[in-house]
Amino acid sequence: MTRTYEVRTYGCQMNVHDSERLTGLLEEAGYAAAPEDAQADVVVFNTCAVRENADNKLYGNLSHLAPIKAANPDMQIAVGGCLAQKDRSTITEKAPYVDVVFGTHNIGSLPVLLERARVQQEAQVEILESLEVFPSTLPTKRDSAYAAWVSISVGCNNTCTFCIVPALRGKEKDRRPGEILAEVEALVADGVTEITLLGQNVNAYGVEFGDRQAFSKLLRACGEIAGLERVRFTSPHPAEFTDDVIEAMTETANVMPQLHMPLQSGSDKVLKDMKRSYRQKKFLGIIDRVRAAMPDAAITTDIIVGFPGETEEDFQDTLEVVRRARFSGAFTFQYSKRPGTPAATLEAQVAPEVVADRYQRLVALVNDIAWQENKQLVGRTLELMVAEGEGRKDSATHRLSGRGRDNRLVHFNPEGAEGVRPGDMVTVEITQAAPHHLIADHAVQAVRRTRAGDAWEGRSAAPAGVGLGMPSMGVPDALPPAPACS
Ligand code: SF4
Repeated sequence: MTRTYEVRTYGCQMNVHDSERLTGLLEEAGYAAAPEDAQADVVVFNTCAVRENADNKLYGNLSHLAPIKAANPDMQIAVGGCLAQKDRSTITEKAPYVDVVFGTHNIGSLPVLLERARVQQEAQVEILESLEVFPSTLPTKRDSAYAAWVSISVGCNNTCTFCIVPALRGKEKDRRPGEILAEVEALVADGVTEITLLGQNVNAYGVEFGDRQAFSKLLRACGEIAGLERVRFTSPHPAEFTDDVIEAMTETANVMPQLHMPLQSGSDKVLKDMKRSYRQKKFLGIIDRVRAAMPDAAITTDIIVGFPGETEEDFQDTLEVVRRARFSGAFTFQYSKRPGTPAATLEAQVAPEVVADRYQRLVALVNDIAWQENKQLVGRTLELMVAEGEGRKDSATHRLSGRGRDNRLVHFNPEGAEGVRPGDMVTVEITQAAPHHLIADHAVQAVRRTRAGDAWEGRSAAPAGVGLGMPSMGVPDALPPAPACS
Protein backbone atom coordinates (compact mmCIF):
# COMPACT_ATOMS: atom_id res chain seq x y z
CA MET A 1 0.00 0.00 0.00
CA THR A 2 1.18 3.53 -0.74
CA ARG A 3 2.53 5.18 2.38
CA THR A 4 1.19 8.64 3.09
CA TYR A 5 2.97 11.77 4.30
CA GLU A 6 2.27 15.10 5.96
CA VAL A 7 4.78 17.98 6.03
CA ARG A 8 4.32 20.58 8.79
CA THR A 9 6.12 23.81 8.03
CA TYR A 10 7.22 26.49 10.49
CA GLY A 11 9.04 29.77 9.89
CA CYS A 12 10.04 31.79 6.89
CA GLN A 13 9.67 31.59 3.12
CA MET A 14 12.89 29.62 2.86
CA ASN A 15 11.22 26.87 4.86
CA VAL A 16 8.00 27.10 2.88
CA HIS A 17 10.08 26.74 -0.26
CA ASP A 18 12.09 23.84 1.21
CA SER A 19 8.82 22.11 2.10
CA GLU A 20 7.82 22.21 -1.57
CA ARG A 21 10.99 20.28 -2.21
CA LEU A 22 10.35 17.84 0.64
CA THR A 23 6.89 17.04 -0.72
CA GLY A 24 8.35 16.70 -4.22
CA LEU A 25 11.00 14.30 -2.94
CA LEU A 26 8.49 12.21 -1.01
CA GLU A 27 6.11 11.97 -3.96
CA GLU A 28 8.92 10.98 -6.28
CA ALA A 29 9.85 8.28 -3.77
CA GLY A 30 6.30 6.89 -3.98
CA TYR A 31 4.60 8.49 -0.98
CA ALA A 32 1.21 10.18 -1.33
CA ALA A 33 -0.17 13.19 0.53
CA ALA A 34 -2.29 12.04 3.48
CA PRO A 35 -5.97 13.01 3.31
CA GLU A 36 -6.73 15.91 5.68
CA ASP A 37 -8.62 13.86 8.24
CA ALA A 38 -6.28 10.84 8.24
CA GLN A 39 -3.15 10.14 10.23
CA ALA A 40 -0.14 10.16 7.87
CA ASP A 41 2.33 7.26 7.83
CA VAL A 42 5.20 9.76 7.77
CA VAL A 43 5.04 13.13 9.52
CA VAL A 44 7.82 15.57 8.64
CA PHE A 45 8.45 18.68 10.76
CA ASN A 46 10.27 21.41 8.81
CA THR A 47 11.33 23.51 11.79
CA CYS A 48 12.35 27.08 12.50
CA ALA A 49 14.87 28.12 15.13
CA VAL A 50 14.11 31.82 14.98
CA ARG A 51 10.88 32.12 16.92
CA GLU A 52 10.77 32.29 20.69
CA ASN A 53 10.49 28.90 22.39
CA ALA A 54 10.72 27.15 19.02
CA ASP A 55 12.28 24.11 20.68
CA ASN A 56 9.62 23.84 23.40
CA LYS A 57 6.94 24.05 20.76
CA LEU A 58 8.61 21.35 18.67
CA TYR A 59 8.94 18.96 21.60
CA GLY A 60 5.33 19.67 22.56
CA ASN A 61 4.17 18.85 19.04
CA LEU A 62 6.31 15.73 18.94
CA SER A 63 4.95 14.50 22.27
CA HIS A 64 1.42 14.63 20.79
CA LEU A 65 2.55 12.10 18.21
CA ALA A 66 4.29 9.81 20.72
CA PRO A 67 1.17 7.78 21.69
CA ILE A 68 0.15 7.50 18.02
CA LYS A 69 3.57 6.17 17.16
CA ALA A 70 3.50 3.79 20.15
CA ALA A 71 0.23 2.32 18.86
CA ASN A 72 1.52 2.21 15.28
CA PRO A 73 5.28 1.49 15.21
CA ASP A 74 5.31 1.62 11.37
CA MET A 75 4.55 5.29 11.48
CA GLN A 76 7.64 7.46 11.05
CA ILE A 77 8.50 10.93 12.34
CA ALA A 78 11.20 13.09 10.72
CA VAL A 79 12.51 16.45 11.91
CA GLY A 80 14.34 18.78 9.53
CA GLY A 81 15.01 22.51 9.11
CA CYS A 82 16.90 25.02 11.22
CA LEU A 83 16.10 23.59 14.64
CA ALA A 84 17.27 20.17 13.51
CA GLN A 85 20.48 21.72 12.17
CA LYS A 86 20.97 23.38 15.56
CA ASP A 87 19.90 20.62 17.98
CA ARG A 88 21.02 17.56 15.99
CA SER A 89 21.04 14.37 18.09
CA THR A 90 19.54 16.24 21.06
CA ILE A 91 16.25 15.74 19.25
CA THR A 92 16.46 11.95 19.35
CA GLU A 93 17.69 12.10 22.95
CA LYS A 94 14.70 14.17 24.04
CA ALA A 95 12.22 12.43 21.73
CA PRO A 96 13.59 8.90 21.19
CA TYR A 97 10.59 7.94 19.05
CA VAL A 98 11.78 10.30 16.26
CA ASP A 99 13.04 8.25 13.30
CA VAL A 100 14.97 10.78 11.23
CA VAL A 101 16.75 14.08 11.89
CA PHE A 102 18.10 15.92 8.86
CA GLY A 103 19.54 19.41 8.44
CA THR A 104 19.19 22.41 6.17
CA HIS A 105 21.98 21.25 3.88
CA ASN A 106 20.70 17.77 3.09
CA ILE A 107 16.97 17.88 2.59
CA GLY A 108 17.49 15.65 -0.46
CA SER A 109 18.44 12.76 1.89
CA LEU A 110 15.01 12.50 3.52
CA PRO A 111 13.60 9.51 1.56
CA VAL A 112 16.84 7.53 1.97
CA LEU A 113 17.00 8.27 5.69
CA LEU A 114 13.37 7.21 6.17
CA GLU A 115 14.07 3.96 4.38
CA ARG A 116 17.28 3.35 6.33
CA ALA A 117 15.54 4.01 9.63
CA ARG A 118 12.86 1.49 8.69
CA VAL A 119 15.30 -1.20 7.58
CA GLN A 120 17.77 -0.74 10.43
CA GLN A 121 15.06 -0.07 13.01
CA GLU A 122 17.00 2.78 14.52
CA ALA A 123 16.97 6.56 14.34
CA GLN A 124 19.02 8.22 11.61
CA VAL A 125 20.61 11.59 12.35
CA GLU A 126 22.36 13.18 9.37
CA ILE A 127 23.45 16.81 9.50
CA LEU A 128 25.87 18.25 6.94
CA GLU A 129 27.95 21.36 7.57
CA SER A 130 27.57 22.78 4.09
CA LEU A 131 25.38 22.51 1.06
CA GLU A 132 26.11 19.58 -1.26
CA VAL A 133 23.55 20.26 -3.94
CA PHE A 134 21.80 23.57 -4.58
CA PRO A 135 18.27 22.68 -3.44
CA SER A 136 16.63 23.92 -6.65
CA THR A 137 17.88 20.83 -8.45
CA LEU A 138 15.69 18.64 -6.23
CA PRO A 139 12.25 17.44 -7.30
CA THR A 140 9.60 19.90 -6.26
CA LYS A 141 5.88 19.72 -5.80
CA ARG A 142 4.65 23.15 -6.76
CA ASP A 143 1.89 24.59 -4.63
CA SER A 144 0.70 27.08 -7.22
CA ALA A 145 0.16 26.87 -10.96
CA TYR A 146 0.50 30.61 -11.52
CA ALA A 147 3.07 32.05 -9.10
CA ALA A 148 6.46 30.70 -8.09
CA TRP A 149 9.38 31.26 -5.76
CA VAL A 150 12.79 31.01 -7.41
CA SER A 151 15.86 30.73 -5.18
CA ILE A 152 18.78 32.83 -6.30
CA SER A 153 20.96 32.19 -3.25
CA VAL A 154 20.98 30.43 0.08
CA GLY A 155 22.87 31.32 3.25
CA CYS A 156 24.17 34.71 4.36
CA ASN A 157 27.60 36.28 4.87
CA ASN A 158 26.35 38.88 7.36
CA THR A 159 26.52 38.44 11.11
CA CYS A 160 23.51 40.26 12.55
CA THR A 161 23.74 39.52 16.25
CA PHE A 162 20.06 38.54 16.66
CA CYS A 163 20.07 36.12 13.74
CA ILE A 164 20.66 32.38 13.72
CA VAL A 165 20.58 32.10 9.92
CA PRO A 166 24.36 32.33 9.28
CA ALA A 167 24.99 29.56 11.81
CA LEU A 168 22.32 27.27 10.41
CA ARG A 169 22.16 28.08 6.70
CA GLY A 170 25.87 28.74 6.24
CA LYS A 171 27.74 31.14 3.96
CA GLU A 172 25.99 32.56 0.94
CA LYS A 173 25.88 30.31 -2.10
CA ASP A 174 24.77 31.93 -5.34
CA ARG A 175 23.15 30.19 -8.24
CA ARG A 176 24.45 31.08 -11.66
CA PRO A 177 22.24 33.60 -13.52
CA GLY A 178 21.81 31.24 -16.49
CA GLU A 179 20.47 28.52 -14.22
CA ILE A 180 18.05 30.91 -12.51
CA LEU A 181 16.79 32.30 -15.82
CA ALA A 182 16.38 28.80 -17.24
CA GLU A 183 14.21 27.92 -14.25
CA VAL A 184 12.15 31.09 -14.68
CA GLU A 185 11.70 30.37 -18.39
CA ALA A 186 10.62 26.81 -17.65
CA LEU A 187 8.12 28.07 -15.09
CA VAL A 188 6.73 30.60 -17.56
CA ALA A 189 6.44 27.89 -20.21
CA ASP A 190 4.36 26.00 -17.64
CA GLY A 191 1.95 28.92 -17.26
CA VAL A 192 3.48 30.79 -14.32
CA THR A 193 3.22 34.57 -14.78
CA GLU A 194 4.55 35.80 -11.44
CA ILE A 195 7.86 34.93 -9.83
CA THR A 196 9.48 36.02 -6.58
CA LEU A 197 13.26 35.85 -6.51
CA LEU A 198 14.26 34.56 -3.10
CA GLY A 199 17.45 34.94 -1.11
CA GLN A 200 18.48 35.72 2.45
CA ASN A 201 20.07 38.90 1.14
CA VAL A 202 19.33 39.36 -2.55
CA ASN A 203 21.52 42.48 -2.82
CA ALA A 204 24.60 40.43 -2.04
CA TYR A 205 23.79 38.18 -5.01
CA GLY A 206 26.89 37.87 -7.18
CA VAL A 207 29.37 38.00 -4.30
CA GLU A 208 30.45 34.46 -5.12
CA PHE A 209 31.26 35.20 -8.73
CA GLY A 210 32.44 38.76 -8.22
CA ASP A 211 29.72 40.85 -9.88
CA ARG A 212 28.35 43.58 -7.63
CA GLN A 213 25.61 44.44 -10.10
CA ALA A 214 24.52 40.85 -10.65
CA PHE A 215 21.14 41.36 -8.98
CA SER A 216 20.11 44.37 -11.07
CA LYS A 217 21.26 42.51 -14.20
CA LEU A 218 19.12 39.56 -13.13
CA LEU A 219 16.07 41.82 -12.76
CA ARG A 220 16.67 43.27 -16.21
CA ALA A 221 17.10 39.77 -17.68
CA CYS A 222 13.76 38.76 -16.14
CA GLY A 223 12.28 41.72 -18.02
CA GLU A 224 13.25 40.04 -21.31
CA ILE A 225 11.25 36.89 -20.63
CA ALA A 226 8.09 36.97 -22.73
CA GLY A 227 4.97 36.02 -20.80
CA LEU A 228 6.42 36.85 -17.39
CA GLU A 229 4.10 39.56 -16.08
CA ARG A 230 5.20 40.15 -12.49
CA VAL A 231 8.62 39.92 -10.89
CA ARG A 232 9.11 40.45 -7.15
CA PHE A 233 12.02 39.75 -4.80
CA THR A 234 12.75 39.31 -1.12
CA SER A 235 14.69 40.17 0.96
CA PRO A 236 16.98 43.04 0.08
CA HIS A 237 19.41 44.45 2.66
CA PRO A 238 19.76 48.21 3.28
CA ALA A 239 23.55 48.02 3.62
CA GLU A 240 24.01 46.52 0.18
CA PHE A 241 21.06 48.05 -1.66
CA THR A 242 22.45 50.04 -4.56
CA ASP A 243 20.98 52.54 -6.99
CA ASP A 244 21.44 50.21 -9.97
CA VAL A 245 18.70 48.06 -8.40
CA ILE A 246 16.34 51.07 -8.20
CA GLU A 247 17.14 51.87 -11.84
CA ALA A 248 16.52 48.26 -12.90
CA MET A 249 13.22 48.24 -11.00
CA THR A 250 12.12 51.47 -12.66
CA GLU A 251 13.23 50.55 -16.15
CA THR A 252 12.03 46.94 -16.23
CA ALA A 253 8.32 46.85 -16.95
CA ASN A 254 7.54 43.55 -15.27
CA VAL A 255 9.42 44.30 -12.01
CA MET A 256 6.68 45.33 -9.61
CA PRO A 257 6.64 48.59 -7.59
CA GLN A 258 7.06 46.84 -4.28
CA LEU A 259 9.95 46.66 -1.84
CA HIS A 260 10.35 44.79 1.42
CA MET A 261 13.24 46.63 3.09
CA PRO A 262 14.08 45.33 6.60
CA LEU A 263 14.69 48.22 9.01
CA GLN A 264 15.01 46.25 12.28
CA SER A 265 15.69 49.45 14.26
CA GLY A 266 15.71 53.19 13.58
CA SER A 267 18.39 53.84 16.21
CA ASP A 268 21.99 54.05 15.02
CA LYS A 269 23.20 52.71 18.35
CA VAL A 270 20.92 49.67 18.21
CA LEU A 271 21.80 49.04 14.55
CA LYS A 272 25.45 49.06 15.58
CA ASP A 273 24.74 46.60 18.40
CA MET A 274 22.81 44.45 15.94
CA LYS A 275 25.86 44.56 13.62
CA ARG A 276 23.71 45.99 10.85
CA SER A 277 26.13 48.12 8.91
CA TYR A 278 23.74 50.86 7.71
CA ARG A 279 22.43 53.75 9.74
CA GLN A 280 19.11 55.62 9.91
CA LYS A 281 20.23 58.24 7.38
CA LYS A 282 21.23 55.66 4.79
CA PHE A 283 17.97 53.75 5.25
CA LEU A 284 15.83 56.86 4.81
CA GLY A 285 17.95 57.89 1.81
CA ILE A 286 17.09 54.59 0.11
CA ILE A 287 13.40 55.08 0.86
CA ASP A 288 13.52 58.62 -0.55
CA ARG A 289 15.22 57.48 -3.75
CA VAL A 290 12.80 54.59 -4.22
CA ARG A 291 9.84 56.94 -3.70
CA ALA A 292 11.27 59.47 -6.14
CA ALA A 293 11.75 56.78 -8.79
CA MET A 294 8.54 54.84 -8.05
CA PRO A 295 5.94 57.06 -6.37
CA ASP A 296 3.42 54.20 -6.32
CA ALA A 297 5.72 51.67 -4.68
CA ALA A 298 4.48 49.89 -1.56
CA ILE A 299 7.35 49.61 0.90
CA THR A 300 7.15 47.14 3.77
CA THR A 301 9.63 46.28 6.48
CA ASP A 302 10.65 44.20 9.52
CA ILE A 303 11.18 45.80 12.91
CA ILE A 304 12.43 44.32 16.18
CA VAL A 305 11.56 46.14 19.41
CA GLY A 306 13.33 45.63 22.72
CA PHE A 307 16.74 44.61 21.40
CA PRO A 308 19.18 44.43 24.38
CA GLY A 309 20.19 47.94 25.44
CA GLU A 310 17.35 49.66 23.53
CA THR A 311 16.32 52.80 25.43
CA GLU A 312 13.11 54.79 25.07
CA GLU A 313 15.13 57.28 23.02
CA ASP A 314 16.29 54.50 20.67
CA PHE A 315 12.71 53.34 20.35
CA GLN A 316 11.61 56.88 19.52
CA ASP A 317 14.16 56.81 16.66
CA THR A 318 12.42 53.72 15.32
CA LEU A 319 9.02 55.43 15.53
CA GLU A 320 10.49 58.43 13.73
CA VAL A 321 11.72 56.27 10.84
CA VAL A 322 8.30 54.60 10.63
CA ARG A 323 6.68 58.05 10.42
CA ARG A 324 9.07 59.22 7.73
CA ALA A 325 9.25 56.04 5.66
CA ARG A 326 5.45 55.59 5.67
CA PHE A 327 5.56 51.82 5.34
CA SER A 328 2.48 50.18 3.87
CA GLY A 329 3.00 47.36 6.36
CA ALA A 330 5.54 45.90 8.75
CA PHE A 331 6.42 42.62 10.35
CA THR A 332 6.94 43.61 13.95
CA PHE A 333 8.72 41.40 16.46
CA GLN A 334 9.29 41.61 20.17
CA TYR A 335 12.93 40.75 20.73
CA SER A 336 13.43 37.46 22.49
CA LYS A 337 16.66 35.60 23.15
CA ARG A 338 17.47 33.19 20.39
CA PRO A 339 19.89 30.60 21.70
CA GLY A 340 23.05 30.40 19.65
CA THR A 341 22.99 34.07 18.62
CA PRO A 342 25.49 36.64 19.95
CA ALA A 343 22.70 38.91 21.24
CA ALA A 344 21.37 36.15 23.52
CA THR A 345 24.33 36.63 25.85
CA LEU A 346 24.08 40.44 26.06
CA GLU A 347 23.43 41.61 29.59
CA ALA A 348 21.20 44.62 29.03
CA GLN A 349 18.08 42.62 28.13
CA VAL A 350 15.01 44.87 28.18
CA ALA A 351 12.26 44.00 30.69
CA PRO A 352 9.41 42.05 29.01
CA GLU A 353 6.74 44.55 30.09
CA VAL A 354 8.76 47.40 28.54
CA VAL A 355 9.16 45.42 25.31
CA ALA A 356 5.43 44.64 25.27
CA ASP A 357 4.52 48.30 25.79
CA ARG A 358 6.82 49.49 23.00
CA TYR A 359 5.50 46.78 20.75
CA GLN A 360 1.90 47.97 21.26
CA ARG A 361 2.87 51.55 20.47
CA LEU A 362 4.80 50.49 17.37
CA VAL A 363 1.99 48.32 16.02
CA ALA A 364 -0.53 51.15 16.56
CA LEU A 365 1.66 53.57 14.58
CA VAL A 366 2.42 51.07 11.80
CA ASN A 367 -1.27 50.25 11.39
CA ASP A 368 -2.30 53.88 11.45
CA ILE A 369 0.18 54.81 8.71
CA ALA A 370 -0.63 51.73 6.62
CA TRP A 371 -4.31 52.66 6.83
CA GLN A 372 -3.62 56.26 5.80
CA GLU A 373 -1.56 55.02 2.85
CA ASN A 374 -4.30 52.59 1.83
CA LYS A 375 -6.97 55.30 2.04
CA GLN A 376 -5.15 57.22 -0.68
CA LEU A 377 -5.97 54.39 -3.07
CA VAL A 378 -9.75 54.71 -2.65
CA GLY A 379 -11.17 55.71 -6.03
CA ARG A 380 -8.16 54.40 -7.94
CA THR A 381 -8.45 51.73 -10.61
CA LEU A 382 -6.09 48.77 -10.13
CA GLU A 383 -5.28 45.62 -12.04
CA LEU A 384 -5.25 42.58 -9.77
CA MET A 385 -3.99 39.07 -10.23
CA VAL A 386 -6.72 36.84 -8.85
CA ALA A 387 -5.34 34.82 -5.96
CA GLU A 388 -6.31 31.48 -4.52
CA GLY A 389 -6.99 30.96 -0.83
CA GLU A 390 -6.05 34.45 0.31
CA GLY A 391 -9.33 35.88 1.50
CA ARG A 392 -10.27 33.94 4.61
CA LYS A 393 -13.67 35.65 4.80
CA ASP A 394 -14.36 35.56 1.05
CA SER A 395 -17.02 32.88 1.23
CA ALA A 396 -18.88 34.80 3.95
CA THR A 397 -18.54 38.15 2.18
CA HIS A 398 -19.08 36.74 -1.34
CA ARG A 399 -15.90 38.40 -2.54
CA LEU A 400 -12.81 37.13 -4.33
CA SER A 401 -9.26 38.26 -3.57
CA GLY A 402 -6.35 39.41 -5.65
CA ARG A 403 -3.05 41.25 -5.52
CA GLY A 404 -2.26 44.64 -7.02
CA ARG A 405 1.02 45.37 -8.78
CA ASP A 406 2.35 46.65 -5.45
CA ASN A 407 1.24 43.35 -3.83
CA ARG A 408 -1.53 44.94 -1.80
CA LEU A 409 -4.29 42.49 -1.00
CA VAL A 410 -7.68 43.48 -2.45
CA HIS A 411 -11.00 41.76 -1.74
CA PHE A 412 -13.33 42.43 -4.68
CA ASN A 413 -16.94 41.96 -5.69
CA PRO A 414 -16.82 39.30 -8.44
CA GLU A 415 -19.86 40.68 -10.32
CA GLY A 416 -18.85 40.94 -13.96
CA ALA A 417 -16.02 38.43 -13.51
CA GLU A 418 -17.95 35.19 -13.73
CA GLY A 419 -15.68 32.23 -14.41
CA VAL A 420 -12.54 34.14 -13.47
CA ARG A 421 -9.72 31.86 -12.26
CA PRO A 422 -6.73 32.31 -9.97
CA GLY A 423 -3.95 33.71 -12.15
CA ASP A 424 -6.36 35.73 -14.34
CA MET A 425 -6.33 39.54 -14.18
CA VAL A 426 -9.24 41.78 -13.21
CA THR A 427 -9.54 45.55 -13.21
CA VAL A 428 -11.39 47.04 -10.23
CA GLU A 429 -12.06 50.35 -8.55
CA ILE A 430 -11.03 50.58 -4.89
CA THR A 431 -13.97 51.59 -2.71
CA GLN A 432 -12.69 51.12 0.87
CA ALA A 433 -9.44 50.82 2.75
CA ALA A 434 -8.43 48.96 5.90
CA PRO A 435 -4.96 48.82 7.48
CA HIS A 436 -4.13 45.43 5.93
CA HIS A 437 -6.25 45.25 2.81
CA LEU A 438 -8.38 47.12 0.30
CA ILE A 439 -11.94 46.49 -0.82
CA ALA A 440 -13.46 46.91 -4.29
CA ASP A 441 -17.20 46.58 -4.01
CA HIS A 442 -18.34 47.75 -7.44
CA ALA A 443 -18.64 45.29 -10.30
CA VAL A 444 -15.36 44.29 -11.95
CA GLN A 445 -14.52 46.64 -14.84
CA ALA A 446 -12.53 44.21 -16.99
CA VAL A 447 -11.33 40.63 -16.97
CA ARG A 448 -8.22 39.36 -18.73
CA ARG A 449 -7.97 35.60 -18.98
CA THR A 450 -4.35 34.53 -18.83
CA ARG A 451 -2.10 31.55 -19.44
CA ALA A 452 -1.70 31.45 -15.66
CA GLY A 453 -5.46 31.00 -15.29
CA ASP A 454 -5.33 28.24 -17.93
CA ALA A 455 -2.50 26.60 -15.96
CA TRP A 456 -4.52 26.82 -12.75
CA GLU A 457 -7.51 25.26 -14.52
CA GLY A 458 -5.30 22.50 -15.94
CA ARG A 459 -3.84 21.83 -12.51
CA SER A 460 -7.26 21.71 -10.90
CA ALA A 461 -8.40 19.12 -13.42
CA ALA A 462 -5.33 16.88 -13.07
CA PRO A 463 -3.40 15.51 -10.09
CA ALA A 464 -0.55 17.79 -9.03
CA GLY A 465 2.73 16.86 -10.66
CA VAL A 466 6.29 16.76 -9.46
CA GLY A 467 8.79 18.57 -11.62
CA LEU A 468 12.55 18.66 -11.53
CA GLY A 469 14.06 21.93 -10.45
CA MET A 470 10.94 24.04 -10.72
CA PRO A 471 10.12 25.05 -7.19
CA SER A 472 7.29 27.43 -6.56
CA MET A 473 4.47 28.23 -4.19
CA GLY A 474 1.33 30.26 -3.91
CA VAL A 475 1.25 34.01 -4.29
CA PRO A 476 3.16 35.44 -1.34
CA ASP A 477 1.21 37.46 1.21
CA ALA A 478 1.13 41.27 0.96
CA LEU A 479 3.69 41.03 3.60
CA PRO A 480 5.62 37.83 3.15
CA PRO A 481 4.41 35.11 5.58
CA ALA A 482 7.63 35.71 7.45
CA PRO A 483 10.67 37.45 6.08
CA ALA A 484 13.37 35.41 4.40
CA CYS A 485 15.92 37.55 6.21
CA SER A 486 14.76 38.01 9.76
S1 SF4 B 1 19.21 39.08 9.58
FE1 SF4 B 1 19.36 38.69 7.39
S2 SF4 B 1 21.25 39.77 6.77
FE2 SF4 B 1 21.35 39.55 9.00
S3 SF4 B 1 22.50 37.64 9.32
FE3 SF4 B 1 20.31 37.13 9.33
S4 SF4 B 1 19.87 36.49 7.22
FE4 SF4 B 1 21.81 37.63 7.18
